[in-house]
Amino acid sequence: MENDAEINQRASLLPIWQVAERIGLSADDIEPYGRYMAKVRMEAVRRAARERRGRLIYTTAITATPAGEGKTTVAIGLTQALGRLGKRVAVCLREPSLGPTFGVKGGATGGGLSQVAPMVDINLHFTGDMHAVTSAHNLLAAAVDNHIHQGNALGLDPKRVSWRRVMDMNERQLRHVVVGLGGAGDGVVRETGFDITAASEVMAVLCLSRDLRDLKERLGRMVVGQTAGPSRSRRWVSAREIGVVGAMAVLLKDAIKPNLVQTLEGQPAFVHGGPFANIAHGNNSILATQTALGLADYVVTEGGFAADLGAEKFFDIVVPQTGLVPDVVVLVASIRALHHHGGASKGDLHTPNRDALQKGLSNLDRHIANIRKFGLPVVVAVNRFAADDPGEIRAVIEHCRSLGVRAEAADVVARGGEGGLELAGAVLETIEEERPDFRPIYRWEEPLAGKIERLATEIYGADGVDFTPEAAAALEDLSAHGFGGLPVCVAKTQFSITDDPSLRGAPTGWRLKVREIRPSLGAGFVIALTGEIMTMPGLPKEPAALRMDIDETGYVTGLS
Ligand code: ADP
Ligand code: MG
Repeated sequence: MENDAEINQRASLLPIWQVAERIGLSADDIEPYGRYMAKVRMEAVRRAARERRGRLIYTTAITATPAGEGKTTVAIGLTQALGRLGKRVAVCLREPSLGPTFGVKGGATGGGLSQVAPMVDINLHFTGDMHAVTSAHNLLAAAVDNHIHQGNALGLDPKRVSWRRVMDMNERQLRHVVVGLGGAGDGVVRETGFDITAASEVMAVLCLSRDLRDLKERLGRMVVGQTAGPSRSRRWVSAREIGVVGAMAVLLKDAIKPNLVQTLEGQPAFVHGGPFANIAHGNNSILATQTALGLADYVVTEGGFAADLGAEKFFDIVVPQTGLVPDVVVLVASIRALHHHGGASKGDLHTPNRDALQKGLSNLDRHIANIRKFGLPVVVAVNRFAADDPGEIRAVIEHCRSLGVRAEAADVVARGGEGGLELAGAVLETIEEERPDFRPIYRWEEPLAGKIERLATEIYGADGVDFTPEAAAALEDLSAHGFGGLPVCVAKTQFSITDDPSLRGAPTGWRLKVREIRPSLGAGFVIALTGEIMTMPGLPKEPAALRMDIDETGYVTGLS
């Protein structure tokens, strides 16, 4: 079989205006970026987002192995299948980041016959959103240091500047840097560091903003650091006080518009915004989802990491402020991940092993139970890999059905939309027969610590939460400043449903350790950090970049 990049680059694509037409967008509603990509103009976004017409299908996954279990791929395959059934459908995805693309994971545009296109451009500079976010973020960083250098009228403590710099690359070498070296004219010496662009609060803000006005409000609320002095008199300094919010919004004027591309079978795909699912909420822009829901009858979307992270954040952070209640949740599982959770070793994940499979179902069961706690209907999709044993796939499907959950295999990598027809059928039936009775896990009005405790006990399966003294003090401080009513965004490992990446399955009898609290006031949540959370990934020993090349005709190899 051809690899992903070959399939994608050989595909014959529709001109983007034809894709737009399929969901009622005219040529005047879009701004083409070349022949196959476009941005949707804000007038069209406003018009579409006014009224929801579509059903929302939210794709998430069980706790994954580092390779990823196929949420994006299944979301695209399901969209193609719904297209084959004659439905007016669109998919909403996050934008890939150059870091993972050149690092471990390869591109983030699906796989096999279930991809969005043109994958090379989407995975590279696309329509420039990553660049815009990076620039806006770093403009603020430059303005903060310039403010200190030029007399520091706000009294910022150089040791308490929390606003770091970002770039869209896996660069462990820049995690900790000293800036301002040199002479008196070269700025103030202090320690800081770089995060990857997906971890920028500007990215989270962009994805949660309703329009340019809301974007500016949120940018203005972002905290850049604290003033000097004893803790009682210290105060947070906001981006608004630094004075460059208008300029940042100028840099983001096009990035806020949803991007439109297509699946390999010609359905519209909105690929817009790419926040991390640990220190941010991990879902594509709400503007893209709202636009799609105003134009299509069925909208498939995907959140980052497993259902305890991206999906939980969508349900507890995004839904309460947007009303974007999903009609059904598709929970992606793979046989290899179930083997992993049942204790199989890394080299044996593709070897049939009923015993490991049976044990590994504990992880799937926990995620099913969690989604039901939100009052949402769930369908399990077993993402079929070529080496999978059909008997094991059947066993998983039967297990789900014994729990009263619809389940189907998705063979969308090998067969495209055709391989997703059973799954699409199960999704449509579920939408017809079950109604969401949505309830978040916590109410925003509850105290911050209580919200974290609810997530720990109800979603992660912990017995309770231990806060470090610093974290406890920070929570009190936030409440005292009137931010106790914000939702919480738990930054937790994606490799376990617990806070320990080495624990598989669905462990009980442990306590969540919250070591640090950070305000993310622009995004509008409080981040609770558990364990070591990487906001600037490193490259592996053999980065994907080593395999990439381009020939004289412009044909790219190694990008997947
Ligand atoms: P996620 O969105 O859950 O992180 P992706 O859909 O991006 O996962 O898939 C991760 C990687 O695994 C991609 O490179 C994709 O092409 C590959 N992949 C996914 N499903 C399959 C499958 N059924 N067979 C082979 N490769 C797959
Ligand atoms: Mg994905």
